[in-house]
Amino acid sequence: MLTTLHRRAGALLLAALLHAAAAAQAGADLPPLAVTEVAPGVYVHAGVVEDWLPGNGGDIANLGFVVGSRCVAVIDTGGTPQLGLRWRAAIERTTRLPICFVFDTHAHPDHVLGNAAFATAQTRFVASAKFNAAMAARAPYFLRALERDFGVSATRDSVVYPTIAVDGTQEFDLGDRVLVAQTWPTAHTDNDLTVYDRQTRTLFASDLLFVQHIPVVDGSLRGWLNTMRQLARIDAALVVPGHGPTSRGGPDAWKPQQEYLEVLLRETRAALKSHKTLSQAVDSVGATAASRWQLAERFHRRNVTAAFAELEWED
Ligand SMILES: [Zn+2]
Repeated sequence: MLTTLHRRAGALLLAALLHAAAAAQAGADLPPLAVTEVAPGVYVHAGVVEDWLPGNGGDIANLGFVVGSRCVAVIDTGGTPQLGLRWRAAIERTTRLPICFVFDTHAHPDHVLGNAAFATAQTRFVASAKFNAAMAARAPYFLRALERDFGVSATRDSVVYPTIAVDGTQEFDLGDRVLVAQTWPTAHTDNDLTVYDRQTRTLFASDLLFVQHIPVVDGSLRGWLNTMRQLARIDAALVVPGHGPTSRGGPDAWKPQQEYLEVLLRETRAALKSHKTLSQAVDSVGATAASRWQLAERFHRRNVTAAFAELEWED
């Protein structure tokens, strides 16, 4: 009898714990993310221009979704599994159509750690062919950061690896609406992917374009400058950056970032030519150009370090 009661109590406790865990997991106490319809059937959630930190819940990247007549495509999923759930709730509040594709624009935590919230049988995950290797290399660090900094229990299942690998351009039909996914030579990262909606000429540039938030070089400075020249020529009525406000497309949208990266290139080359050490370069290169950007104190020195390493052995 006692044993039965104990068992029952144990079962109840377990049920309560599971329920609490499920509620927390569902982010039930948190509202759906805010979205703006920037063009017909094209929605954007604007992240805050800050670093990926617990204080903002990791909600720093711009996220998007596009609605076709048959289904919906999601562009990036947010910086934590919880944000992913809130993002999904925002989408399901807007449309009842199924989510057929999730595009992961590159393997940075603020863009893709919400993936688990979208992992269902009907949803295919799409990324650059180089995404999975980049993600696998850093996933242990991302998961530790989620647990340690965000207090989120994260398992290996928190990371969802795309199964459609894009190399070049590939079209995705949402029903009466085609999105074009495109990969690029190493620029912001080695696995950047853009998504273009032909119907509204909206370009989701993700972190190939930073606005207000200082650009972050995690791939190749020279590659990024080359890629930007092509991106600026895309016939885009709207361009959604990875961070900062959405704006009209065309060359002007790219100018501030281009100027900063060009200064970084020019002054790092000059520092190398005059045999400055890395720490001398970090103290001097691009200081004025960087001061025009938010989060310069967090990322500019790191950018100079990356540029120095990249340019040190060039001809
Ligand atoms: Zn990024």
